[in-house]
Amino acid sequence: MTLHSTHADIVCRAASAGKHVFVEKPLTLTVADARRAATASREAGVVLQVGHHRRFQGATRRVKGLIDSGELGEIYQLEANLSGPSGGSRTGWRSDPAECPAGSMTGLGVHMVENLHYLAGPVKCVSAFCSKISSVGNLDDVTNIIMEFESGTLGYVGTAYGIPKVFNTAAFGTGGNAWSEDEGKRLRKLGIDPSAVEVADLGGLRGGNDTPAETGARARLLIEAAISKLDAYDGFRPENAKMLIAWEEEMSRRSLFTLPPVRYEMIPSIRGEDCFAADGCRICSNLCPHNALAVSPEGRMILSKGRCTGCGACVSACPAGAFDFPGASLPQL
Ligand code: SF4
Ligand code: SF4
Repeated sequence: MTLHSTHADIVCRAASAGKHVFVEKPLTLTVADARRAATASREAGVVLQVGHHRRFQGATRRVKGLIDSGELGEIYQLEANLSGPSGGSRTGWRSDPAECPAGSMTGLGVHMVENLHYLAGPVKCVSAFCSKISSVGNLDDVTNIIMEFESGTLGYVGTAYGIPKVFNTAAFGTGGNAWSEDEGKRLRKLGIDPSAVEVADLGGLRGGNDTPAETGARARLLIEAAISKLDAYDGFRPENAKMLIAWEEEMSRRSLFTLPPVRYEMIPSIRGEDCFAADGCRICSNLCPHNALAVSPEGRMILSKGRCTGCGACVSACPAGAFDFPGASLPQL
């Protein structure tokens, strides 16, 4: 492991010897050194690769996929934070502010800068704050960076030593929010507010003496509305929906084509493999205001669709993140 300040010279020497180079992050400590290393590699025709492995973590790649597919709409904000407790225990050059400027930036935060660059592309302008809060160690404790990307998106990167581990990369857009947690192992996503998409009120379109063509047109509308609803909720699955039909009149064959609006209530589902109900956890069932959660004789937490109102209390409370709640909006949670 070599000092950060030596990376540029080593890259240049390796490139001039015709060697491909893999350099651990940070590439260099200055822009001038980074350009020098890149130019030397380009001119020598060798590959210069930088060790930013965190962009390849599963959930982070999925966030990128959601942005690229347009599912998150227009991206307004990006956030990333990589922090940990280890600052005061660093020794040697790793505790030297000249080798590790901006506290945990070179050790941790640089990964998150790279992640946001991966998500949103080139940065137009940047400002940063560093602060030394504790008396432990030589390095700054906390660094915050604000970025404006060329696309107009704004981004924030936080990094700190001396606090419990944090590892999140998030994108917030007009079509939904998605974030990668827990070293990219877990993806969270909140879709658009379901109230933004309503099934057409076919009851209001009913005519007194429909012709077969009109009946057919109404049936087509009904089906198209149902498909629109399903399309609207990314990740929508039968176990995450409770269909409510407000019957106001007696049901007949004819009334099938004059249905009142169908409403879908979003409800959570439980991923059994993540739930530790078998180990005695009862947090969600103790909390549920509608007694919709109970443990089966086999020790599995079971959700009753009939009782559940989709309030989301269990989703927020579960320490294992064992609930799926696609298509829900933040206010609902
Ligand atoms: S709170 Fe989460 S882990 Fe605990 S029983 Fe409920 S679903 Fe399972
Ligand atoms: S969403 Fe609300 S009502 Fe449904 S199971 Fe969870 S806590 Fe109970």
